[in-house]
Amino acid sequence: MAEKFTIESPDVTYTKDCIEAIYSYQTTQVYEENGSLKVKPHSTRFIFRTETKVPKLGVMLVGWGGNNGTTVTAAVLANKLGFSWMTKTGEKVANYYGSLFQASTVCLGTGPAGDVYVPFKDLLPTVSPNDIVFDGWDISSMNLSDAMVRAQVLDWSLQEQLKPYMKKFHPRPSVYIPEFIAANQEDRADNVIKGSKKEQVEQIRKDIRDFKAKSGVDKVIVLWTANTERFCDVIPGINDTAENILKTIEFGREISPSSMFAVASIMEGCAYINGSPQNTFVPGVVDLAIKHKVFIGGDDFKSGQTKMKSVLVDFLVSAGLKTVSIVSYNHLGNNDGKNLSAPEQFRSKEISKSSVVDDMVHSNPILYKPSEKPDHCVVIKYVPYVGDSKRAMDEYTSEIMMGGTNTIVLHNTCEDSLLASPLILDLVVLTELCQRITFKTELDLEFQTFHSVLSILSYLCKAPLVPDGSPIVNSLFRQRACIENILRACLALPPQNHMLLEHKMQ
Ligand code: NAD
Repeated sequence: MAEKFTIESPDVTYTKDCIEAIYSYQTTQVYEENGSLKVKPHSTRFIFRTETKVPKLGVMLVGWGGNNGTTVTAAVLANKLGFSWMTKTGEKVANYYGSLFQASTVCLGTGPAGDVYVPFKDLLPTVSPNDIVFDGWDISSMNLSDAMVRAQVLDWSLQEQLKPYMKKFHPRPSVYIPEFIAANQEDRADNVIKGSKKEQVEQIRKDIRDFKAKSGVDKVIVLWTANTERFCDVIPGINDTAENILKTIEFGREISPSSMFAVASIMEGCAYINGSPQNTFVPGVVDLAIKHKVFIGGDDFKSGQTKMKSVLVDFLVSAGLKTVSIVSYNHLGNNDGKNLSAPEQFRSKEISKSSVVDDMVHSNPILYKPSEKPDHCVVIKYVPYVGDSKRAMDEYTSEIMMGGTNTIVLHNTCEDSLLASPLILDLVVLTELCQRITFKTELDLEFQTFHSVLSILSYLCKAPLVPDGSPIVNSLFRQRACIENILRACLALPPQNHMLLEHKMQ
């Protein structure tokens, strides 16, 4: 498989520091005139500039000692050190399966022998996960070796190899406000930052600076993979503007720990990603990110059941089948499941999982009236015995031709953290790449970055955060095509159109 390539086009210039590409962005504008729809193709010329120097990246995880935090850290170490280990079914070798950038490919174009694929990570220069330096916080003081054992995710003989490396990592103390996570988490909280909310945010900012200085990384991205919090009420004067959220911290009013981490990261100029469902990004946090021109992204890793849903319902509805009922049962036995067994934390997850089919349903007014939606029910139960091996069972019922009914039932079993860990890597790799891309139209004087609300991350998120007023896309293939085609635009390559016209001629 080809790995390195150069584009031969008058629209692409390679300089010492960047790739500059001139790109025609084709859209179709639709408007109503005298009661009928007019459709106008439209083309805008953009110039994309991508800095090619890949920085040394530091990633700070909030909830570093949890199942995801320990698993992603261990997986990167195992890949970097080239570990292999024996299991009862034979030898396993460290890999990055499940990562869009590390383990999937894109079709670059067609050669004499057919389509030519390259690894997704090689479309543009990207950080290698093996080079990421990790640090983080946890309300549990356990070192990462013991925390990895507690997580019960990786094979034992791999854990044995990793222990000497993992035990050197100690999570930094974190912010613990008991009312935001389930009461059953209290016994973990032995590693807590003391003081007022203002002092706690200051401490987080100090930690980021300390990590940056000691590790020598060029930039830091902060990612929340700590427990799901309850939702926060959006209250005028408290969290509705940047100014008010800063005042709320100063005067110790209500704010969630995850919003405090987001504020601290933004103030340090570090992108902040939310891997859990809660509404960390209250309007005041979004406003602050926009004012400081810092990327924020989320919410909630799209790892298993929801990923299937955003594929299956897309297929059903776009095939003209009317999905009328979706029922999703989950049971899991890890600490995430224990936290989600409390009603307010479950509610956050339920909200995050619930709007995932909305855009697909709205796209088909032949099947659905404007206010019509499929019944959609989500159940999550905590069953300690199954540990991180989460079970997800889904039933999709659709109306088919002439009054017929079609019911599809799925049963999905696998380690949850082994699905989430590659997403964590993709989230930080893609965010870091976006920090090196600027663009403008031919009419603009200045280059600009992407909007602070980094919606290109939608593929990796259950409840994608998008700029106010932007459409939310949940369909997995559209989300993937968005990343692929934007990266292609940075190389002045046309979007993938799958037309294969050259093979359809006589
Ligand atoms: P986990 O419970 O194993 O880990 C969470 C960690 O966060 C724990 O070590 C806990 O001590 C710590 N923590 C709690 N509050 C904290 C705070 N205020 N500051 C710092 N640390 C804190 O859970 P997990 O399985 O690693 O999942 C992490 C999060 O990711 C959960 O919210 C989960 O819902 C979300 N998520 C996971 C998946 C998946 O596939 N694993 C998918 C989507 C979302």
